[in-house]
Amino acid sequence: MPLTGLQIFKLLPNTNCRKCGYATCLAFAMKLAAGREALEKCPDASEEARAALGAASSPPIRGVTVGRGPRAITVGEETVFFRHEKTFVRRPGLFALLDAKGLSAAELDARLDQWRDTRIERAGETFQIDGVAVAEVPGSPEVGVKAAVAAAERGLPVAVLAATAEGAAAMAEKIKDQRPLLAPPAHAPDGLYANLAARLAIPLVVSARDLPGLAAAAMAATHAGVADILLEPPGADLRALHHSLTAIRRGALDRIHPGLGHPVFLRVGAGEFEKAVLGIAKFASLLVLPGYGGENWLPLWTLRQNIYTDPQKPLQVQPGLYSIGEPHAGSPLLVTSNFSLTYFMVATEVEATGLACHLAVVDAEGLSVLTAWSAGKFSGERVAKNLRQMEAAARVKHRTVIIPGYVSVISGELEDALGEGWRVLVGPQEASDLAPFLKDVWSAIGAG
Ligand code: SF4
Repeated sequence: MPLTGLQIFKLLPNTNCRKCGYATCLAFAMKLAAGREALEKCPDASEEARAALGAASSPPIRGVTVGRGPRAITVGEETVFFRHEKTFVRRPGLFALLDAKGLSAAELDARLDQWRDTRIERAGETFQIDGVAVAEVPGSPEVGVKAAVAAAERGLPVAVLAATAEGAAAMAEKIKDQRPLLAPPAHAPDGLYANLAARLAIPLVVSARDLPGLAAAAMAATHAGVADILLEPPGADLRALHHSLTAIRRGALDRIHPGLGHPVFLRVGAGEFEKAVLGIAKFASLLVLPGYGGENWLPLWTLRQNIYTDPQKPLQVQPGLYSIGEPHAGSPLLVTSNFSLTYFMVATEVEATGLACHLAVVDAEGLSVLTAWSAGKFSGERVAKNLRQMEAAARVKHRTVIIPGYVSVISGELEDALGEGWRVLVGPQEASDLAPFLKDVWSAIGAG
């Protein structure tokens, strides 16, 4: 049985020394109880506490890292069944399938360069291809090896999709220092690949025809010395797969069987878009998708973003002074909040005017303008403080700041807080009215 926060607290030193990064032992104990922290962060925990907390303090689903360096991806470590219970922790990795058969060296390089460099910004998040799943080419093992090495050299995490034990060994050996994921063919004999993964100290995918068999296969791999395991769920069709995915998550969270406490691996074939959607929505941790095409990946990235944002934290952009176009000292200075949707609406409307502007994005803790104001996070004092921190005065000579119409009430306080020489202009309430405002009002006052 997992221990409660108070039970864990009684086992900690209770010195509130903060070495774990928390202000009190109790706060740290609560995080441990929720499976969101590791006991290792408390250097003063006694052996008795370590023994008692061992299983209870680890997340019910083990974290597994694939790759090394800045693009390494960690999956697993989830603690809830539904996102609204708390949040999902690790968004699933989306790996592009690479079959290098028939590709020239130049074509292989071009494809991997494109995948490495693909970046799409959306609502404050950067969408990227998380890794490459390199398929072994039966009969030509050197083709797969070359492709795996080329992907790893670009810093991309690699999953080795093996067809044979020999091919798997050839590919995984070459890039073992980059910590590839070894994915044997489905239902491959136990032991063969587990020994290879244990020897190379790399993560391994295990599979079976049913859930008891899957849990047993994971236990066998653990006993063979494999530390990091992903489960490939059984499921001949979407209905069966749905059942497997939910049963694995439930079994892991309830700690029904230790063999289920691992992240989930899912292969998606060409034309199996629904399977990818099901996997992202229902607990798959690492998906292999057929190649790369924005028409398929973009909706999947967007779906993942919507599911894997923390419902307790509004989407935020970094506060700061942004340039729309190439503004100069006479360009308008507008203020908004750092709630992502507000920022993107304002920025989009300003861009559409074709007028270069300075956009001061105030730290309103991710709340929209009106909500932030009613919570005391968009007061005149606070906006002035943010503008000073951004050194806005050095960027404009007109000393005029345009605030959202919804918070016209702060104009006097803001003017006082900014001090001599500043004036506050009340802008429109809706972002969609910015274009006529800038055209009519800003041009008319000739501040620029
Ligand atoms: S490091 Fe340990 S003793 Fe110090 S505050 Fe954290 S839990 Fe308490």
